[in-house]
Amino acid sequence: MLRGRKIASPKFFRRQEKKLKRAQRKLSRCEKGSSNRRKAKLAVAKIHARIADKRRDFIEQETTRIVRESQAVYLEDLNVKGMGSKKGKRAKSVHDRSLGMFARALEAKCARYGRGFAKVDRFFPSTQMCSACGSIEGPKGLEGLRVRSWTCSCGAVHDRDVNAEINIRREGKRLLAAGRAER
Ligand SMILES: [Zn+2]
Repeated sequence: MLRGRKIASPKFFRRQEKKLKRAQRKLSRCEKGSSNRRKAKLAVAKIHARIADKRRDFIEQETTRIVRESQAVYLEDLNVKGMGSKKGKRAKSVHDRSLGMFARALEAKCARYGRGFAKVDRFFPSTQMCSACGSIEGPKGLEGLRVRSWTCSCGAVHDRDVNAEINIRREGKRLLAAGRAER
C-alpha cells in the first residue's frame, strides 16, 4: 500500500524569517556604536536562537516519528522524500535551510535504530520515469511541477507524485540491497 504524506513546513519558520529580515534591516540602519545598535543586535541574536531551538525540536520530533513508522527510509537528495517500506511516507516541504540538517539527523537515527537508509541521487529521474515501463517521458523541470497527472506512451496513467514515490522506493530498495551486498 502506497501512501503519501507531507511533513508541513512549520509556518513558524516563515514567520521568524520575516521577523529576522525586519530586525536585520533595522540593525543596518543603526549608527555604529550607538545603544540602539546594541539593542538591534540583541534582537537579531534572539531571533536566530529561537529559530535554532525550534528547528532542533522539529527535526527531533519528525525524525523520531519517521524512524518509528518505517523499516527503511529512502531519501531523495535535496528534495527530502523519505519513504518507509512498510507504511509509505514522504517528508517534503521542510524549510530549505533545515533540509541538510534534517537529512543528516534522519540518517543517523536510522543507523542507531537499525533501519535501512538509502539516498537516491538528485539526478535520478524519479518524476520523469514511468514506473510501469521505465520510459523517461514524464513531466520535467519547473513546468513539470504544474503537471499533476500524465499518461505514458505505454498507456499508464500516473499521478506525478505517486509515480515518483514508486520510483524512489524502488531505487532506494535497490541501493540498499546493493550496499548490503558490498559489505
Ligand atoms: Zn510507461
